[in-house]
Amino acid sequence: QAHLDVIDKANSAINAYTLVTTDKALEMADASDAKLAKGEGGILEGAPIGVKELFCTKGVRTTACSDILSNFVPTYESTVTQNLWDEGAVMLGKLNMDQFAMGSSNETSCFGNVVNPWRRNGEETQLTPGGSSGGSAAAVAADMCLAATASDTGGSIRQPAAFTGTVGIKPTYGRASRYGMVAFASSLDQAGPIAKNVEDTALMLEAMCSADDKDSTSLHIETPKWTDSLSKGVKGMKIGIPKEYRVEGMSDEIEALWQQGIEWLKAAGAEIVDVSLPHTKYALPAYYIVAPAEASSNLARYDGMRFGIRKEGENLDDVYSTTRAEGFGDEVRRRLMIGAYVLSAGYYDAYYLKAQKVRKRILMDFQEAYKECDALLTPTCPSAAFGLGEKSADPVEMYLNDIFTVTANLAGLPAMSLPVSLNSQGLPLSLQVIGKALDEESCFRVAKVIE
Ligand code: GLN
Repeated sequence: QAHLDVIDKANSAINAYTLVTTDKALEMADASDAKLAKGEGGILEGAPIGVKELFCTKGVRTTACSDILSNFVPTYESTVTQNLWDEGAVMLGKLNMDQFAMGSSNETSCFGNVVNPWRRNGEETQLTPGGSSGGSAAAVAADMCLAATASDTGGSIRQPAAFTGTVGIKPTYGRASRYGMVAFASSLDQAGPIAKNVEDTALMLEAMCSADDKDSTSLHIETPKWTDSLSKGVKGMKIGIPKEYRVEGMSDEIEALWQQGIEWLKAAGAEIVDVSLPHTKYALPAYYIVAPAEASSNLARYDGMRFGIRKEGENLDDVYSTTRAEGFGDEVRRRLMIGAYVLSAGYYDAYYLKAQKVRKRILMDFQEAYKECDALLTPTCPSAAFGLGEKSADPVEMYLNDIFTVTANLAGLPAMSLPVSLNSQGLPLSLQVIGKALDEESCFRVAKVIE
């Protein structure tokens, strides 16, 4: 009820929730109370959680924040959310996001942008909460839920977490089931949590992950109890600092932030080693070929026949094209055109195939670097939260925001963002820890020391 009260007061200004499931929340909370009174319950019993709009929730509208799905009510539940309810979590409602998770500022949503609860010192300028999980991050930061589900295809958990001073982790590809998650780029998409601190994030991730026969890329392995390893520290651990992430024009505040993290880890007994990831500069172009290519294939299903809205037309082709033209927003249409182009007969080798080769190189870079260290420390983003509207006119400028985050998706590695300090304008700045495949534990341990 306390969280519902905050949502009631704050949502009109922040626009994090697209839908509040008040009755369901109170019903689930009552059930949790009854369990807890008997000394029973799961690891999240009674914890109020918000759900990103891209997780299918049975009987509760799920739109991926696109007009094309504006009337879609799933008949089934995503595995990730089902796992949360099975552990006793309480659903507060659905959270705003960039349309089909395409964006870095939550400005492409058909429900309008989310407003970051943070402001620059003494300024009223509204800032973006980041994207695509902007609603999830803003809701956690503004006490509108204890934690939220989010998804990360190229940084959409970590960048919004960084912009709002919250914690987020994208697990190793395959840890969390993609069943019931509206697909964007299937080989990159992973679900994960955004929460207020490292421990809550670990607990959420434990509940969300599972082996799942309904997702052919799900890993059939046990989910570790990460909450048990949080206090292990980093003594003797080797932390790699990839020199290619010291990009040209990096701001002093980001340099200083990175240095601060290095000092803290050294003081806690970690050894700092310089490493090289030579193909880093090709990651962003490769991502913005692979992701749109997969999106153009995944989003072909929205044809006005099977899901969502249907527009009238003279004939079948006409119905397809009017439905898609009116149903998808500008950014989604841009991605679909790029995707169709890079996959087309004459350009496939030059773009898509080349990008896949680059992707392999990026993975090999990480494998090489991990011969010398246990985890990598980098900034999460090139800057603190920027103003709403500041980058929306220039897609390439917007894409540059993902420069430090897309590599972990291309390589399938676990990566975590955690707030470290405030900049001179009073905005949160965050560092990223990238782990070896399946080694979320090291991410959590490093994060816990810095926290
Ligand atoms: N900002 C990136 C994009 O627009 C990442 C999105 C995501 O991780 N879902 O594609």
